[in-house]
Amino acid sequence: MHEAAIIEDVIRQVLHEGEKNRLVKISMVFLTVGRLHHLVLETMTELFDLMKKEFPILNQATLKVDMDPLRFVCRSCGQETEADAPSFSCPACRSVNIQILSGYELILARIEGEQNE
Ligand SMILES: [Zn+2]
Repeated sequence: MHEAAIIEDVIRQVLHEGEKNRLVKISMVFLTVGRLHHLVLETMTELFDLMKKEFPILNQATLKVDMDPLRFVCRSCGQETEADAPSFSCPACRSVNIQILSGYELILARIEGEQNE
């Protein structure tokens, strides 16, 4: 499953960041994903809640996922468009000659936790 591989990777990154920042407990994990990943939010948080139990530092953490809208610019008329659902034609001139600006990102935006004194 797509979501499972991503969450596994996110947890790996979070643990690494936690170690780097000397966190003893991680409470929040903020993730930003682009629309074009077609990820199901509920599945991601469910998987996170399942997988985090393996790691004492993480087992109280909450995953917050932010969906970034899809953004593209039309190469024919220059119109910039932001869409919540994948659509690949320019609403102004109907051209399909577009350039994707964002929608593929998958970013571990921020983690919050308690630091070791
Ligand atoms: Zn256009």
